[in-house]
Amino acid sequence: MGNRLAEMSWPEVERAVAAGATTVLLPLGATEQHGPHLPLGTDTVRAEALAGLLAERLPGALVAPALPFGCSDEHAGFPGLLGVGKETLARLIVDLARRMAGWGVERLVLLSAHGGNGEALSLARAMLRSELPGLAVWAPEDLTSLSPATAGVARRAGVPEGALGLHAGEGETSELLHLRPELVRRERARPGYTGDMESVVKILKAGGLRAAHRSGVLGDPTLASAGRGASYLEARAEEIARAVLGDPDGGR
Ligand SMILES: [Zn+2]
Repeated sequence: MGNRLAEMSWPEVERAVAAGATTVLLPLGATEQHGPHLPLGTDTVRAEALAGLLAERLPGALVAPALPFGCSDEHAGFPGLLGVGKETLARLIVDLARRMAGWGVERLVLLSAHGGNGEALSLARAMLRSELPGLAVWAPEDLTSLSPATAGVARRAGVPEGALGLHAGEGETSELLHLRPELVRRERARPGYTGDMESVVKILKAGGLRAAHRSGVLGDPTLASAGRGASYLEARAEEIARAVLGDPDGGR
């Protein structure tokens, strides 16, 4: 029967919930430039994959369809951008959560593979706390820096953080090589901004990705490997599963 809501029928969902499946994972992606070598839907593909891996680690988790639109205005100026404002995304999450609560969901895990969604997630959490106090909500604390799990895999493999990158670099390119190799234009991969990834966030917030590098890439995708992409996803899923299960609110 599986655990993906879009592939289940209503009696299957009813039975799953009765058997204790009261957690929903909501994957949040984006439709935005990912350099000349990766597709616009990169973060949506990554969010869906992460949700699948996380569901294996969280007993009784159902996976909602991924949202392909996020908060991506830092990518303005690149063709192909589709996105929404943070209030819109937060409101959409609250609307979805309200419907979930109506059929028995007790915990919502907001799983974003896109850094720009951070403010919308904080806003959604605050709105849910007052509007649906009975629903436990878990969302990542910080989306704009590299996760310790991802950085750890890179360090052990000898990949510098400047190459791993925050956007369309070695990290995301490796994950796509693992998940959808046919969508990676390896011949178009070139190093983008490869400096300090903590300080580049200020540049992004002030002037967008273009101000950091005209290709839209933060990192060096030429070093990507499919095997490491699988390790990044596994490590991140482990990290999130531990955080969700350890969180006194989200882990209920
Ligand atoms: Zn991305």
